[in-house]
Amino acid sequence: MADVLVLGAGILGLSCAITLQERGHRVQIWTRDDPLQTTSAVAAAIWLPYLAEPRARVLGWSATTFATLLRQAEDPASGVRSVRTIEVYDHSDPEVWWLSAVPSARRLPADEVPAPFHSAIELTVPLCDTTRYLPWLVARFAAAGGRIERREVHQLDETPAGHVTVNCTGLGARTLCQDTSVRPVRGQVLKLRGVRLDHAWIDDTTENPIYMLPRIDDLVVGGTAQRDSENLREDPADTARILADAHRRFPQLRGAHVTAVAVGLRPYRDAIRLEPEVLPSGRRVVHNYGHGGSGFTLAWGCADEVAQILDSTAG
Ligand SMILES: Cc1cc2nc3c(=O)[nH]c(=O)nc-3n(C[C@H](O)[C@H](O)[C@H](O)COP(=O)(O)OP(=O)(O)OC[C@H]3O[C@@H](n4cnc5c(N)ncnc54)[C@H](O)[C@@H]3O)c2cc1C
Repeated sequence: MADVLVLGAGILGLSCAITLQERGHRVQIWTRDDPLQTTSAVAAAIWLPYLAEPRARVLGWSATTFATLLRQAEDPASGVRSVRTIEVYDHSDPEVWWLSAVPSARRLPADEVPAPFHSAIELTVPLCDTTRYLPWLVARFAAAGGRIERREVHQLDETPAGHVTVNCTGLGARTLCQDTSVRPVRGQVLKLRGVRLDHAWIDDTTENPIYMLPRIDDLVVGGTAQRDSENLREDPADTARILADAHRRFPQLRGAHVTAVAVGLRPYRDAIRLEPEVLPSGRRVVHNYGHGGSGFTLAWGCADEVAQILDSTAG
């Protein structure tokens, strides 16, 4: 069994820490930010592959994560539950390359496709309420003896000798690993209360995705996908457009109150980096970053692979 230091307490760091702990490793987490101040805390957090590559690996990781999230949803305290979801398309035969990962998915017959779209799929997928899910994961890690320390690392060699480091620093890997291929894709969402939708809605046919996701206590409405924008503040123009899109699709949302606006930078990379590295100092690292718009969709599958790498290279 190894001494493991996980860098990062977003969804990737927490899922790795718990998975490794459950396999008997001695695990601690160092994180620059509190888990509820990470990009992961901003996420709409529905299971759906989006802005993540490469497809072949994403398919496997997403299928494993789907099954894990369904098991976690059995505990109501987790904040994970399944939601019926409609995704619409502007052409009649879209290539939904990840559909095989979803047991319940069906293409809607033409007479059920909402206007003005050309096709749609209906699927039931896990949706994580991050305000509950992240604290639930932190509590699970702590209950099994795990420690989370607020600490920023400037070089991978700063980590304690004799430990394996699991690098889940998301966009932070840009500076930590001098990896300029990790780039931000800005996302802004609104949280609405006072109305309910009985299903989730996803429309990725426009420049910015339009989605409405009914969480347990509120409705998350988005969004934006602005490449290379580092702006972590609310953009009022985005807020106005997001609301207008939502009202056009679901007029009943005009009665809702906007209770919060949140912005996060998705850590996008042309290919997710999940691989081991031995540093010149001899320290062992397993990198696990660059999950773009799919951190919650891939986390548990990636954590399993990190554990396999660690087990196969331990010693
Ligand atoms: C608006 C929006 C909507 C989204 N919707 C979805 C969705 O519906 N489904 C989905 O699957 N995904 C979604 N995502 C994407 C998802 O949020 C990300 O893929 C995910 O949060 C990435 O997780 P992470 O753990 O890699 O990074 P983060 O959550 O950013 O965590 C990184 C961690 O590393 C720490 N760190 C960084 N640098 C250092 C350092 N040098 N030293 C120490 N610690 C460091 C940070 O403090 C933090 O704890 C969405 C994102 C946004 C912004």
